[in-house]
Amino acid sequence: MSGPRVRFAPSPTGLLHVGNIRAALFNWLYARRHGGRFVLRLDDTDRQRSKPEYEAAIERDLAWLGLAWDARERQSDRLAHYDEARDRLIAAGRLYPCYETPEELEFKRKRLLAQGRPPVYDRAALRLDEAAGRKLEGEGRHPHWRFRLASEAVRWDDLVRGPQHVDEASQSDPVLVRADGSYLYSFTSVVDDIAFAITHVIRGEDHVTNTGAQIQMFRALDAAVPAFAHLPLLVDASGGGLSKRAGSLSIADLRERGIEALAIDALLARLGTADPVEPVASLDALVATVDFARVGRAAARFSEEELRQLSARTLHMLPYEAVRDRLDGSVDEALWLAVRGNLATLADASVWAEVVHGPIAPAIEDAPFLREAAKALPVEPWGEGTWKIWTGALSAASGRKGRALFHPLRLALTGRDTGPEMARLLPLIGRARAAARLLGQAA
Ligand code: GLU
Repeated sequence: MSGPRVRFAPSPTGLLHVGNIRAALFNWLYARRHGGRFVLRLDDTDRQRSKPEYEAAIERDLAWLGLAWDARERQSDRLAHYDEARDRLIAAGRLYPCYETPEELEFKRKRLLAQGRPPVYDRAALRLDEAAGRKLEGEGRHPHWRFRLASEAVRWDDLVRGPQHVDEASQSDPVLVRADGSYLYSFTSVVDDIAFAITHVIRGEDHVTNTGAQIQMFRALDAAVPAFAHLPLLVDASGGGLSKRAGSLSIADLRERGIEALAIDALLARLGTADPVEPVASLDALVATVDFARVGRAAARFSEEELRQLSARTLHMLPYEAVRDRLDGSVDEALWLAVRGNLATLADASVWAEVVHGPIAPAIEDAPFLREAAKALPVEPWGEGTWKIWTGALSAASGRKGRALFHPLRLALTGRDTGPEMARLLPLIGRARAAARLLGQAA
């Protein structure tokens, strides 16, 4: 038995943001956990709004997040398959032409609402005979096509939401083909899920209402119905949707701001689940715990501040090998280990490299004490114990303790009043630079 086949199916009509990347992440993690295949499907049938630059951005963002795909498909390459499936549905009597104009449909809708009835399409087009249809086409009208829903309650056992049902008797027959011949997503998605033998459709909760009609389409095309997992949507702190802020929460934007990819992965994989949000050193840690049964039903609260903190905590635990390729040459392993616990973003490591290597302008708070300190510097070689030996001797000689002892040293040696542990920085600064800085010289 081969593993599950899943897909992430964004439309290349905009940038990926934390909301839609969550579906990508769960698809990828699920495939990796169960030895399956992850397909990236670009839903680009909307020719007007789909753009190559968005396609490139989607691929770059997924790659950056570590979510490699096993295959990539484009819906615009697959139009012949949709034509064929459309013809099968027509032959089976499940797809029928409708000639109403948008104005006529709106009029019917309003009339039903005024009567206090649900605005369900009345299937008037089913009562047109062929001659009437030909006549309308002769007048230049092009039909759109609706899927004839079977009047039944469609049931499925959602992997996140549990048993679900949609009563199709109370739904309008959905339009699958527009009057210009183009297809709607709900149809092309089913055709592709069949063609790529997708076993699990993992997507946002906003698609739950499509699922009933889609299940009927799978059956009408004689195909096996996949399993469905609908993830709760993300909301902001006030409970509102994130979509209006999609721009500022785009993956590209977060990357620009120095947020770690692993932190985005860790937060989105764990938010709203039974597992704690915590930093991880690799995606493997997330693969091991992905489980739809542990995803809660409630909307998951996304906080940018939580992401920023998780990103910093991720840096604090990453070994040098994990970041080496992204660091500039001035940051070696010893420097990384000395400063990582103080970083908000990776770029800050270079700032500390400049502080260590100099030249910096020392801040002199107490010149006589610092002159004594310079004289008392131990001989090299230096290690992490040097700071303790040196400051112990200074304390004994001057009677200083705590802040009065340490603060002037830190200011002179780094030019800053906070930063990584001095015990780790001092051996990297080295004796010559330390001595010069203590005497107030730029070094
Ligand atoms: N292109 C659809 C979307 O972005 C795909 C939905 C699905 O996963 O079925 O909403």
